[in-house]
Amino acid sequence: MANLSRRGVLAAGLGLGLAGFLPRPARAAPVAQAMAPGFEAVVAPDARLDTLHSDGRWCEGPCWVLRLGGLVFSDTRMNRMSLLREGAAAQAYRDPSNNANGNCLDAEGRLVTCEHRTRRVVREREDGSIEVLADAFEGRRLNAPNDCALGPDGAIWFTDPVFGIRQPDEGLMAEPEQAMRRVYRIAPSGRVEARIEDMDQPNGLAFAPDGQTLYVADAGAGLNPEGPREIRAYRVTPEGAAEAGRIFARLESGVPDGLETDADGRLYAACEDGVRVFAPDGTLLGRIATPTTPANIVFGGVDGRRLFITAGKAVHAVNMRAQGRGF
Ligand code: MG
Repeated sequence: MANLSRRGVLAAGLGLGLAGFLPRPARAAPVAQAMAPGFEAVVAPDARLDTLHSDGRWCEGPCWVLRLGGLVFSDTRMNRMSLLREGAAAQAYRDPSNNANGNCLDAEGRLVTCEHRTRRVVREREDGSIEVLADAFEGRRLNAPNDCALGPDGAIWFTDPVFGIRQPDEGLMAEPEQAMRRVYRIAPSGRVEARIEDMDQPNGLAFAPDGQTLYVADAGAGLNPEGPREIRAYRVTPEGAAEAGRIFARLESGVPDGLETDADGRLYAACEDGVRVFAPDGTLLGRIATPTTPANIVFGGVDGRRLFITAGKAVHAVNMRAQGRGF
């Protein structure tokens, strides 16, 4: 691309009028689609989508890991986790991954991973070995942990829908042992506590920057067309309970998957038509369009102003004006 534009400038400078004959550089269309005032503070109108990885099968669980200088992500259907440093090809990180899906860091920066195949949540120790944080509740196996998030007090929260035991290319088919699809909290003590029981298929989750609101995507319509396709918001108490669940946003089609918040408390949701961005009051500010339906998102980069998006076979990134939490 740099070469082409140099040739273009050269042609124009020589007055040869050749620019019109040169092949146009392949640039993606603008992806920022404003829907309400305030979206300009989120992303520039001319922002472009960079595709960093395109030969996956089902990319998920993006997690920015500063100490590794890159993005760890899952390819659930390839049964592999990879590390992506920009400018280089993705390299294997954990292979096989037990059909890993969502990832997050705990309060000490250790990688926490939801595994479909083994129906558990695990954490990587500093020596690279794996410890199990949760694989059962009340003596019965979990369904298939999908996504996880670090709570304000160091607890790890995770969702446990049945997708990973119902889709043969994302895990092992099985009947659920749990009567419900819950959101659980792994207390800093290690105790696994049921926290949300009024959802159909809880999927992505994210905390507001103050830790007092937990957003959870309900992707029930992914298995039942009459099921929910909504994002719920819960009040998180200092004791680690989740109360007063309410509908934050409802989608007209598709289902919400991964969620993320920024430093100003906006909510980002992987939806059928791209990444939707909501103000804390629920106003839909705009959308970051993606070529295929995205599954999950995370802020990263050295300054927290790069939004990484996993979408089907691909991992994309967009430079943002908004900044992720904790940078
Ligand atoms: Mg998910």
